[in-house]
Amino acid sequence: MAKIIDGLSIANEFCDGIRIRVDEIKTRGVYPRLAVINASGENSLSNILKVATSVGIEVDVYQFDKQVNSDEIANLIAQLNADSKTHGISLRSHLPKSVRFRELINLIDSDKDVEGLTTLNQGRLFSGEPGVVPCTPLGVLHLIRTVHEDISGLHAVVLGRSSIVGRPLAQLLLNSNCTVTLLHSYSHDLPEICRDADILVSATGHPHFVTEEFIKEGATVIDVGINKVEEDGKIKIVGDVDLDNVASVAKAITPVPNGVGPMTVAYLMHNVLKLACCY
Ligand code: NDP
Repeated sequence: MAKIIDGLSIANEFCDGIRIRVDEIKTRGVYPRLAVINASGENSLSNILKVATSVGIEVDVYQFDKQVNSDEIANLIAQLNADSKTHGISLRSHLPKSVRFRELINLIDSDKDVEGLTTLNQGRLFSGEPGVVPCTPLGVLHLIRTVHEDISGLHAVVLGRSSIVGRPLAQLLLNSNCTVTLLHSYSHDLPEICRDADILVSATGHPHFVTEEFIKEGATVIDVGINKVEEDGKIKIVGDVDLDNVASVAKAITPVPNGVGPMTVAYLMHNVLKLACCY
C-alpha cells in the first residue's frame, strides 16, 4: 500500500523555518509584506491569510468586483511597484474575461513577482538563472524530495503544461537532472507513457483521471488537481488521481486535500521572504 505523503505536516514544518527567518529580518527593520489583487470571488484567500499571519507576513488584499477593467488593475500594480513597503505582488488568476491577465502580469516588477509568472522570471527559470519560481512547482519538488533523496536520472512525467504548474515544474525537474516528459491534451498513449514514470505528477483539472493503468509499480504520484465534484448531493474537492485505485500500485502518493495545496501556500510565503531579503 502506498505511503500517503502528508503535505499539510510538511508545509507546517517548512513554515516553522520561514517564521524564524521572518523574525530575524524584522530585527533588521525589514517587515515582509505581500499584496494580493483579487477579482475572482474565490475563497482560497482565507488560507493564505491564516498562514501569512502564522509566519509573521503582512498581507494587503485589494478586492475588486467582476466589473473591474485592466486599467484599474494596471494603476494599482504601478502604485505597488513603487511602494517600498510591498515586497511581493500576487495577481490571482480566474479574473473576469475583460481583464488581460498576461499583459497585467508583465506590468509587475520582476523583483516583486511573487508568483514567478512574469516573462522575465519564466525566462530565468528556463535558462537556469536565479529568479522567482512559481509556488506550486516548488511545493511539488519539495514533496518529491521527501520520498527520493536523489532524483537524478529518474523519469518524471508531468500531465499538464500550464505556465503556472506543468511547464515550470518540468523545467525544475529537468534542472534537477530528471528525464522529463511533458504531456498535454494532444498527447497520445497517455497511460503507456505514464506507466514508464518513476515520478508522475498530474495537473490536468480532470477528477479521477489518473487510474491504476497509468502507474508503474513503486512510482511516486503527486496530485496537483483541485476539482469540485458532486457526490451524494454534496460538493467535494478531489484530485486528478483516483487515490483508492492507485494506492495499491504506487510507492507514495499525495492526497487531495492536504497534499500539494498547503505546499503552494507555504512557497508563496517563501517567495515573499525571498523578495523581502532582496535575493
Ligand atoms: P490549466 O487548465 O491551465 O491546464 C491544464 C493542463 O492539462 C493543460 O496543459 C491541458 O492540455 C492538460 N490537459 C487537459 N486535459 C487533458 C487530458 N485529457 N490529457 C492530458 N492533458 C490534459 O490548469 P492549471 O495548470 O492551472 O491547473 C491544473 C489543476 O491543478 C486544476 O485542477 C487546478 O485547480 C489545480 N491547481 C492546484 C494547485 C495547488 O496548489 N494544488 C495550484 C494550481 C492549480 P492543453 O495545454 O493541451 O490544453
